[in-house]
Amino acid sequence: MTDPVRVRFAPSPTGRLHIGGARTALFNWAFARANDGAFILRVEDTDSERNSEDSLHSILASMRWLGLDWDEGPEAGGAAGPYFQSERRDSYQAGIERGLAEGWLYRCFATSDEIQALRDAHREQKAHGCWASPSRDLDPATAERRAADGESCVLRFRVPLGEEILVRDHIRGEVRFRSDEVEDWVAVRSNGMPTYNFCCALDDDAMRISHVIRGEEHLVNTPKQILLAQAMSLRVPDFAHVPLILGEDGKKLSKRTGDTALGDYIDKGYPPEAMFNFLALLGFSIDDKTTVFNREELLAHFDLKRISKGGALFDTAKLHFLCAEYIRHTEPAELAQRLQPWLDQAGLQPPSMDSEQAGSDSASTSRKPWLETLANAFRERLGLYSELPDKAAFLFSDHVEIDDKAQKALDAEGAQDLLLRLAEALEQEPLFPPADWSAWIKNQAAIMEVGMGKLMKPMRAALSGTLGGPELADILVLLGRDRVLQRLRGASVRS
Ligand code: GLU
Repeated sequence: MTDPVRVRFAPSPTGRLHIGGARTALFNWAFARANDGAFILRVEDTDSERNSEDSLHSILASMRWLGLDWDEGPEAGGAAGPYFQSERRDSYQAGIERGLAEGWLYRCFATSDEIQALRDAHREQKAHGCWASPSRDLDPATAERRAADGESCVLRFRVPLGEEILVRDHIRGEVRFRSDEVEDWVAVRSNGMPTYNFCCALDDDAMRISHVIRGEEHLVNTPKQILLAQAMSLRVPDFAHVPLILGEDGKKLSKRTGDTALGDYIDKGYPPEAMFNFLALLGFSIDDKTTVFNREELLAHFDLKRISKGGALFDTAKLHFLCAEYIRHTEPAELAQRLQPWLDQAGLQPPSMDSEQAGSDSASTSRKPWLETLANAFRERLGLYSELPDKAAFLFSDHVEIDDKAQKALDAEGAQDLLLRLAEALEQEPLFPPADWSAWIKNQAAIMEVGMGKLMKPMRAALSGTLGGPELADILVLLGRDRVLQRLRGASVRS
């Protein structure tokens, strides 16, 4: 029987969740969900100087926003906890003592300047293999005495010479490292706190992690973690190193070419489903043609074999296409809920709908149909949620900003007169808007003996201040009878 799938996302809470981290989390989540496995969130907070509570909260919030729920970890608990490395020190201590006793850890007294000088000299000589710490061959009893006397030291892992380390990677195939090229890495800092590589290998074993799915930048750490696992007879997990994310300049994604924190996209009003779909496409594909897919479709097709080795391009145009696509396909009631905070933030208060339209008498519930009509009217016209307040401002204010093209339409010969006649006709209708709007307006054009465009253009201009925007029928509903008549009549005095 094969071991159950258990994967982990292991962020360090030293900043907001990076796009690359979000993509790694998503792939781990998808692999767990597609294989009836467990998705574990482990917080790698060994660097006490750089950790912060705020970072942790924003990472958790970003994961929730993407809908990446975890089965074990902070707030979820679980049998393999604690899930904060800072709370697992006891378990590391046993490993440290064992390493010293067995000799695969040794005390190194060289200062960081001395180590740097060794590295530089080694590089200058273009020597084979790796630089060696002067403490590597110290007699352990002497080293122990020096440490007991208070001399500062770190603990290094004694990398064996002349071995080959094989990484079996689900994306890259077999990757081989020569142990001679791997330095004696620091396993425990001088303050006694073990380092990432040490804690990571021990925790992956203790938490029975079956697959380590992480960014390609960690491939250099993998031989170190495998050597430690071998020294301690731990189980070596399977690996999958996902490709780097490249900016549009072909270089590693960085602040230079765009936002790198997921939170920036949340703050700017990107739809979560679009971001989810987009992140999944950073290295993964269902086939060679499908761009738009939801969570279920991803899970139905998710396979580590379908993740590419080559860099994944952060294609901004594709992201924007996806945003518009998801907004367009969101149900109006749901979209209204998503858009409401953006209106609130801009201080735009939805008016209540006329009771004849809303069929409701309480002010708060009658805003709901208005908001849904608004959402439906703008569904095809938004790239981001945050664009709504600007685009819909004419519905909220008494003053309509008229742009140049609209002004031209209002200044056209006869336009003002047509608008007054239109107001007249509308006022006489028992229903507002008239039941069959397109038939009604056609009929008006016929009565007034003008083409439809001649009538609709100034009407649009008077009501919204632009010639673009939502359907006229929606604008009528959203403005309500009084404001429509006011604007049609006001257009003649405005200019
Ligand atoms: N704490 C590491 C990071 O944030 C995790 C690397 C790993 O997944 O092993 O990059």
